[in-house]
Amino acid sequence: MSELSLTVLGSGTSVGVPSIGCDCRVCTSEDPRDNRMRPSVWVRYGGREIIIDTTPDFRTQALRARIPRLDAILLTHGHADHILGLDDVRLFNFRQSGSIPVYGSAETLAIVRRVFEYVFAEGRKESSCPKIEAVEINGAPLTLFGVEVVPIPLFHGSMPVYGFRFGKLAYLTDHNRVPESSMALLDGLDVLFLDALRYKPHPTHSTVDESLKIVAALRPKMAYFTHICHDLGHERAESMLPPNVRLAYDGLTVSVDN
Ligand SMILES: [Zn+2]
Ligand SMILES: [Zn+2]
Repeated sequence: MSELSLTVLGSGTSVGVPSIGCDCRVCTSEDPRDNRMRPSVWVRYGGREIIIDTTPDFRTQALRARIPRLDAILLTHGHADHILGLDDVRLFNFRQSGSIPVYGSAETLAIVRRVFEYVFAEGRKESSCPKIEAVEINGAPLTLFGVEVVPIPLFHGSMPVYGFRFGKLAYLTDHNRVPESSMALLDGLDVLFLDALRYKPHPTHSTVDESLKIVAALRPKMAYFTHICHDLGHERAESMLPPNVRLAYDGLTVSVDN
């Protein structure tokens, strides 16, 4: 058995918390757990370092968490808050040899190729740019550095997105519907991270109540809500949750035996 750990790099929604121009109670809170960067996590095992999503905060997140190297990037989907930091992976290219594989669905990789056209352009480049290799996920499990990673199909409004399961841990972000066939892939978890944007309904994100229902159906040992907006203050929101459900916060690290 080897250990797998996950560190939350960002537990916030697309605009982050605090949100620009807002002086609400949560945006002005002095609790560091109410300071949420854009949604991303860092997974590590066997000396390998994997990032799920490269947010617009990626540089700050990598510096803050002291990420030493980067072996692979998994993308859940192509929305701006999940991909726009990709250019900063070139710092890892300076320090390590070879290109870094970026895994995503065909739709996600098409967005990445369009947004980061210069990265994929042919020919010699005068300025430095990331060396990455796009690897398409077709829904089948992949083996990443000896560990099986199961893509979990989810819906984010009408957009198909992927969550990822590594052994007894799964990370699901940006969903408002988990199909039955995907619920079956989430059996027997020790730790489940899932989207819980706010209390009020949202057309593309799960709410606290909706996510509590998913947790009740799947019964992981622990669940953490993420992709949280400024409607939820950490302390108050957590006090209303069952003890096996907590709010994620930036810097939170959990470990599971794999
Ligand atoms: Zn998002
Ligand atoms: Zn999204």
